[in-house]
Formats: sequence, structure tokens, C-alpha cells
Amino acid sequence: MNAAYEFDKALIEQVMAASTGVDWITDEARVDRLGRDFAWFSPVLLRELAGKRADAVARPRTEDEVRRVVSACARLGVPITVRGSATGNYGQCTPIHGGVLLDMSGYNQFLWVRDGIGRAQSGIRMGDFDDRARPAGWELRCVPSTFRSATLGGLYGGGFGGVGSINFGPLASTGNVLGVRAMSIEPEPQTVELRAPEALLMHHVYGTNGLVLEMEVGLAPAHAWLEAIVGFDDFDAALTFSDALASAPGVVKKSVTFLASPIPALLAQAVPHLNAPLSQAKHAVLVLAAEFSEAPFLQLMREHRGTLCHRQSAQDVARTKRTLVEYTWNHTTLHALKVDKGLTYIQSGFVAGQHLQQVRALEKLLSGEVLMHLEFIRTKEGAMTCSGLQMVRYQSDERLNEIMQIHRDHGVYIANPHVWRVEDGKQGSINRDVVATKQRFDPQGLLNPGKLRGWAVKEQVLHAQPGEEVSLATLPSF
Ligand SMILES: Cc1cc2nc3c(=O)[nH]c(=O)nc-3n(C[C@H](O)[C@H](O)[C@H](O)COP(=O)(O)OP(=O)(O)OC[C@H]3O[C@@H](n4cnc5c(N)ncnc54)[C@H](O)[C@@H]3O)c2cc1C
Repeated sequence: MNAAYEFDKALIEQVMAASTGVDWITDEARVDRLGRDFAWFSPVLLRELAGKRADAVARPRTEDEVRRVVSACARLGVPITVRGSATGNYGQCTPIHGGVLLDMSGYNQFLWVRDGIGRAQSGIRMGDFDDRARPAGWELRCVPSTFRSATLGGLYGGGFGGVGSINFGPLASTGNVLGVRAMSIEPEPQTVELRAPEALLMHHVYGTNGLVLEMEVGLAPAHAWLEAIVGFDDFDAALTFSDALASAPGVVKKSVTFLASPIPALLAQAVPHLNAPLSQAKHAVLVLAAEFSEAPFLQLMREHRGTLCHRQSAQDVARTKRTLVEYTWNHTTLHALKVDKGLTYIQSGFVAGQHLQQVRALEKLLSGEVLMHLEFIRTKEGAMTCSGLQMVRYQSDERLNEIMQIHRDHGVYIANPHVWRVEDGKQGSINRDVVATKQRFDPQGLLNPGKLRGWAVKEQVLHAQPGEEVSLATLPSF
């Protein structure tokens, strides 16, 4: 236990007594389960996060209930770790220093939709948000493959983007998040509306610098999405088709997923209802395209000598509740792990314009050990590229690090998914604005303690210029 975060466990009783009416869970096994996410994809995180858990879970349903829990924790100095649906990948909602796990999934009202903008409470599941927005002709711009259970606040607090990022880039692209209403962690909690660009100050920092109550987001037109699997015998043909389809401005689509051999075969084993189509595809490309764009999509497929292995209409998806979305992004990893427990994964970002050469070079070097899985997306600036969720046949931590380094040496960006502190992952450096936001919204440092390196050296960091990033290398080791 880090002395800075020690607190008297008996205080939890006092927090509970001060927030009567709130649904509390204290059963150890349930508390433990609620604080576990999908960090087990990583053998490193599985080891490092073993035994870390909260002391109790609070499930508020109203702002007043949230306020009472927060106020009592702030008065008594009890840590708070915010939870959405716990589908994160890096132990993001796993408390390192105990305290209260604040489960926001019951704080989930849809508020309104109009003119391409929507607003909801942060605990709303993204699938529920879309069910409410679609009758008005709109839907979320990008959703993770966990959209059915994951919350909007969880995507903001711990996610990146997903299906739809091929059009709108990651969630952090200008215009996607328009506003957030946040509550400060103080004995008298304050609520503040942050409008863009400030609205991104709490994005992807694992709930360490603010508690988000509501989000206002830009929406996309809701089309009827056709879902298809295209098979290829040749790696390069599948890759160039994926890129051509992703880049074709006249073909309206929502996602293009490239799965190199042997991933289709692994999924075929794991998913009985897709066994037949995936068994026909050595390399597979999973596509969501607007139904009115089916003809140009098929035209491109034929030009690249692909074979249509599977097709389902939007109506089929609605009727069967089976969507290919749940075989893309990290769901690919999840299903593959069902049949091969020796796999783990890495996350990478290729350089727009060089992405195909980089993919080919790395496939040549690492094929067999690293299984190529690419999602085509736009960068924040709008260029088409791909991000990788490559699976890796795990041998050792050293080899895993070596593989990530080989990617970096090829100019490929790595968002290491085997670390649990904010700066060690996608953020990559200490961000002064993130730390300053924590100073403003969580002056006692009670939110998800231990996860934000910059907080431990806040005096030094806060003296940096606004917007400046402080290199991890210039700071003392942790
Ligand atoms: C199979 C699988 C597939 C996935 N696919 C994708 C994908 O396509 N794209 C993607 O980006 N991610 C993906 N993820 C990661 C994750 O599912 C998403 O980021 C998801 O949006 C997280 O939502 P959640 O409600 O489960 O959040 P949680 O896991 O509960 O929380 C995530 C982080 O956000 C913080 N947080 C939650 N709510 C709030 C709040 N109200 N205020 C402040 N902080 C908060 C938490 O403290 C935590 O640090 C995937 C994960 C898995 C296991």
C-alpha cells in the first residue's frame, strides 16, 4: 500500500451511513467481480492486478445519490474509482488502493436528440443511446464493439473509438464530443459544464481527473447497414481491397476490418453460426456498408477478386440480434482467445500514407507469431489509415516488448495494452492539462488513485506551460 493513499477501512461504513438510499454492495466476491474488466487479455496485467479491489460498490441512480456518495468520500478521504460497465481492457476501473467503486451504469437517462447532436447521462449503454436516437434518424458516430453493454461515459473515460471511426476518426476528433457535465470531488461537490475543447480534458484518463455526469456528442446519420464478409486467398489482395474500400469516398460505410490468416479459421471455430462463411475465407474482410452502397461495394470486391462469403441485411441484424460488429475490434481477440489461450494482443497505429507498406513489412517479419488484424479509420486530422489489434502468440514479457519495439522501429505507433497507468499507455507522456484538471476537480487526489503518474509530481508538472507535455524521461522513476 502506498502511504499517500492509505485510509482507515472503517470509514467505508461511515460513507455508507452518510448515503442512505443508495444501493450498496459489500459482498466480497461481487465487489471483486464488479471491479474486474478485460485486463485478463494481457498475461502481464492479469499478474499485476491480481488481488486489487474496492471495499464496497455504490450504485447511484440520481444526481443527488451521486452527490451524497462523493461528498461523504471527500469529507472522509476515501478513494473513488468510477465504473461504467467494466468492459475496459487495462484494469481501468480496478481500484489499486481500495475505497469505493462508483458504478455509474444506473445513472443512464437519455436526455435529448436534435439536429445531429444528442445528450445523455454518462451511464447510458451505447446500444440504448442508439435505440433512442435512431427513430430521429441519428446514431452515435463511433461505438466500440462492446456497444451493447459499454457506457458512453466509459468510452469517454477509457476508450478510443471503434465502428464509425472510419468516417469520424477517434472520439477525440474535433466535433465528436461537444460538452461534458462533470462533478468535482469535494465535501460540497460542484457541477460544471465543460464545452469543447475543454470537454476533452477528462477523455481517456481512466476517471482520474473528474467524474462525468452527462455527455453531449455529435451524431451521424443512421443508415440501414448491410453486413458482409469478403474472402481472399491472397494477403495483399485482401489488404489492398480493404484500403480501397475504406478510401472510396462514394461508398458509404461504417467499418472495414481486415483479418489475416489464421484469424478467420480461429473465429470459425469459436463462432458456430459463422463457421461456414469464415471457413471459406483464408483472409477475411468484414464490412458494414450502407445498403444503398451495396452495388459499388460489390463492384470494388469483384475488381479485387474477393468472394462474398456472407451477407446480412440491416433487417436480418435486427431480427437475429447478431451483428458482425461483435467480431471486430477487440471482440476479434475475445473470440480467438476462446480457442487459443496462448494468444494476447498489441494495439498499434500506422502512419497514414505509409500504412500499407508498414503492414506488409511487419507481416513479412513477424507472420506466424503476430496475427494481423487491422481496423481502417480516419486520423484525428481526417487521413485514412489503419490501426492494428494484432494478436500475438505469447512467449514471454521480454518477447512481447521486443515485438512492440519492432513495430516502433518501423515507425508504427504502439499504445501498449499491457500497462495500467494512464501515461504508460496511449497518452505516452505526462500531460499538464490533465493534471491541472485533476487539481481543479479532484484536489485531494481521490479519483482512481495510483493510475495518474503526473499527480505524484504535480508541483513540477503544474509549472509547465499550458498544453505542454512533460516527458516521462525527465521525471524521477516511480
Ligand atoms: C471485447 C472488447 C472489445 C472492445 N472494443 C473496443 C472498441 O472497439 N473501441 C474502444 O475504444 N474500446 C473497446 N474496448 C474497450 C471498452 O469496451 C470500451 O472503451 C468501452 O467504451 C468502455 O466502457 P465501459 O462502460 O465498460 O467503461 P469501464 O470499463 O467501466 O470504464 C472505463 C474507464 O472509464 C472511466 N469512467 C467510466 N465512467 C466514467 C464517468 N462517468 N466519468 C469519468 N470516468 C469514467 C472508468 O473509471 C475507467 O477508468 C473493448 C473491450 C473489449 C473487452
